[in-house]
Amino acid sequence: MRIALIAHDRMKDRMVALAREFAPMLRQHQLMGTGTTGGRLVDEVGLDVERLLSGPLGGDLQIGARLSVGEVDAVVFLRDPMTPQPHEPDINALVRACDVHDVPCATNISSARLLLRALG
Ligand code: PGA
Repeated sequence: MRIALIAHDRMKDRMVALAREFAPMLRQHQLMGTGTTGGRLVDEVGLDVERLLSGPLGGDLQIGARLSVGEVDAVVFLRDPMTPQPHEPDINALVRACDVHDVPCATNISSARLLLRALG
């Protein structure tokens, strides 16, 4: 499966912890991530993650574009619900693309755990 991993700044520590928890499972899949999130998963968890642009520079849109042509099977998108983001339209576009194409998208830790377990 091709899994996209994205976390807003205040959620990145939680993404790293989640990725550590699921590292054996994640290693069996093809991973991509926005720039900073992907870099942390490579450096701190040792995962093989294709790094796209940073979210605010278009990384969410890159993932949305891939997803729209069938190249992403699941998304873990740990959004920060408490902080306004400059790229809010891009975030909404990605989540909308998930809904349009019926691609599972987990936007918090509990749903991410359920999703990753299901993909196991
Ligand atoms: P980042 O992008 O991983 O490059 O920080 C995530 C985001 O803010 O959408």
